[in-house]
Amino acid sequence: MILGPGSKLYAQNFLSFLDYVEKKILDPVKEKFVRYWVDKNLHMGNTTTNRAESEHARLKMCLSSSMGDLSTNWKSVHNMLELQHTAIHASFKTSIIMLEHRFKGKVLWSNLILNISREALHHLVVEYNKSLEIGTDKSKCGCLSLITYRLPCACMVALKIKNGTALRFDEIHTHWKRLRFEYEVDPKLHKADISLLPEWDILQVYFKKTVLL
Ligand SMILES: [Zn+2]
Repeated sequence: MILGPGSKLYAQNFLSFLDYVEKKILDPVKEKFVRYWVDKNLHMGNTTTNRAESEHARLKMCLSSSMGDLSTNWKSVHNMLELQHTAIHASFKTSIIMLEHRFKGKVLWSNLILNISREALHHLVVEYNKSLEIGTDKSKCGCLSLITYRLPCACMVALKIKNGTALRFDEIHTHWKRLRFEYEVDPKLHKADISLLPEWDILQVYFKKTVLL
């Protein structure tokens, strides 16, 4: 006799068992399964579909009714996008102009202040505080910030503090360095952004190893 999920006998004998497994064993830890996969990927904080859903709700609010014609709806969408554009622009300006007191005169932050977004700096402060507790121990760190945000994690920050060096600009993902819209990018700044120093450092390490052999 074959016991398949569709059979009556299966339903009678195993459904309560499956129900038990689902509710008592899997449900209490289901978030840990999701967390396990989420923590292994670069997501920049987007771990749910909330952002898309809230944008959808915002658009519906702007359209106000389903009776509008193309011209009215076009105008509503245009106004909504303009408001969002202004808000993003303001956040860029805040990151470029406003310097928080806690970062002033500190070697650790010297390459990053006013060059990366405030949100990234706030993520890094969390890692900084964690680094004071765990030090350079990689196993205690877990390096989630590096994996999921491409920002230096607590053990990396601890190493910088230990050596008295600064967090480097090239250790930050481009996502956090974008503080201008395309049409505003100064070509000189854009060129300055391109650096061969990390590659040069790697070459120099190889060179020194070869010389010492
Ligand atoms: Zn780490």
